[in-house]
Amino acid sequence: MSFKDLKIIKPLLRAVAEAGYDNPTLIQEQTIPLVLEKKDVIASAQTGTGKTAAFALPILQLLYDRQDAPKKGKTVKALVISPTRELAQQIGKNFKTYGSHTNLKSTVIFGGTGIEPQIDMLTKGVDIVVATPGRLLDLHKQDQINLDHVEILVLDEADLMLDMGFIDDVRKIERLCPEDKQTLLFSATMPFKVEDLAKTILNSPERIEV
Ligand code: AMP
Repeated sequence: MSFKDLKIIKPLLRAVAEAGYDNPTLIQEQTIPLVLEKKDVIASAQTGTGKTAAFALPILQLLYDRQDAPKKGKTVKALVISPTRELAQQIGKNFKTYGSHTNLKSTVIFGGTGIEPQIDMLTKGVDIVVATPGRLLDLHKQDQINLDHVEILVLDEADLMLDMGFIDDVRKIERLCPEDKQTLLFSATMPFKVEDLAKTILNSPERIEV
């Protein structure tokens, strides 16, 4: 199976080739078609399996297909929640790499550093935001980000996020997004509390295990 077989569009095929990827990994093969069909997905996958591209590529494709400019007024179309600054930065880097031949804009927001540059980025207009929960809620409280038009929400490393005590923040963020959004949940392990979260926020999800 190739990325072309997965119906990945040309600007993304080019970026993937430049990244040196020959073929999709197992999680990419399974996840990409479902995301493109706008299904909710719950996937158990470890880091190192290629799970970032499994959600980043189809998200870029869904947004690219619409061809519209970033919305004004600090609204975002796709939101990825990650437990740590390092993971968020890694995901943000991947979005930039895979989206390098599109006009889609992404940014990363996280705590422990100045908020002003992050506000500046949001003010300029971005399509995709990768964020840690606390700083995202801070920015929302300050009216610096609008989640009313989020079409796709990703919860990455959900088990780690809950272990770190972010459950209330995650639920709050989910409620700030529209009810009819598409939601993708990735977790290395599937303890009861992750299943419980999934049950309440995902809509007839497709299940993937690699
Ligand atoms: P991840 O599981 O998303 O952290 O990805 C692990 C590593 O695999 C990263 O360094 C990616 O750049 C790389 N990777 C992702 N997809 C592919 C692929 N289809 N072929 C080769 N390497 C890949």
